[in-house]
Amino acid sequence: MTVGASPEDVARVTAQIEALGLRAHPIPGAQRVAIGITGNRESLDPVLFESLPGVLEVIPVSHPYKLVSREVKREPTVVSVGGVPVGGGHFAVFAGPCAVEDAEQTLTIARAVRAAGAHILRGGAYKPRTSPYSFQGLGRPGLEILRDVSREVGLPVVSEALDESSLELVVEFCDMVQVGARSMQNFPLLRACGKQRKPVLIKRGMAATIEELLMAAEYVLAEGNYQVVLCERGIRTFANHTRNTLDLAAVVATQRLSHLPIIVDPSHGTGKRHKVIPLARAAAAVGADGVMIEVHHRPGRALSDGSQAVLPDELAELVRQLPILLPLTGRHLAGVSPAAT
Ligand code: PEP
Ligand code: MN
Repeated sequence: MTVGASPEDVARVTAQIEALGLRAHPIPGAQRVAIGITGNRESLDPVLFESLPGVLEVIPVSHPYKLVSREVKREPTVVSVGGVPVGGGHFAVFAGPCAVEDAEQTLTIARAVRAAGAHILRGGAYKPRTSPYSFQGLGRPGLEILRDVSREVGLPVVSEALDESSLELVVEFCDMVQVGARSMQNFPLLRACGKQRKPVLIKRGMAATIEELLMAAEYVLAEGNYQVVLCERGIRTFANHTRNTLDLAAVVATQRLSHLPIIVDPSHGTGKRHKVIPLARAAAAVGADGVMIEVHHRPGRALSDGSQAVLPDELAELVRQLPILLPLTGRHLAGVSPAAT
């Protein structure tokens, strides 16, 4: 739609799309609204919409993913996580424990990451563990801890949902839903994420292509939830000097194809504490929209992923360095106006 298109213009186009038995997706942007169309089996004649007031252009989308593509929406999407902007120049630091272990551990780490300058708290209450005998997370009591701690320290919180029943609880207690690497192609879960209104963080599957990651996001947008952040967290390769191979080229590739923000998780991406901060700096330099970092005040006693947890001081040092790197790609710390940095 044109910059000056009125809400009535948008409603008229939406009605026209629906009259054809198709679904309209008005996706707001900073400047203008893009209206995606799904449900058509063959290509539509642009003439159907071109002459309606407020329509700037009608663009057939050539990729298999539609609503997530830059063809539908050229300007970057800014996702609001409990008021913290992610994308469109806003670089967000997500940090916290791998898993919620108890109230004291979560509060201690949340206070520390807040003091270090993190914007969004992370912590798992439902953990997808390789072994059924490993700590599986606290479940609902863990989410209650996260909600209380998030209020106490004043940081929004993201947590993983493993299935539709845990999704309902994560939506109730948290500001953002995480879909883990192992669930990236759990299509019923993705659809359910699209039917609720909290923003969704989708982590790239460990053997997923960029196209598969974008198709996963498409499931969420297709159901009407346009608030999606992608996450590169390392892929499986022959390399054994690192837990996974962090694919930073995926950030650049994805940003070319999609308007959705993409953050980087160097914790699962490397699996080793000494590699996490250097790769977080690399993510900032490459132009990612944020990083997700696992932090523990006593990594040796962590119930999961202790070997990749950084100490709060290491996170603080990273956040001090970010204002040097972010201007290289026209970014700034989330919520801070570029003039103030
Ligand atoms: C996590 O972030 O807690 C996690 C389990 O990561 P991934 O899904 O990327 O393995
Ligand atoms: Mn972890």
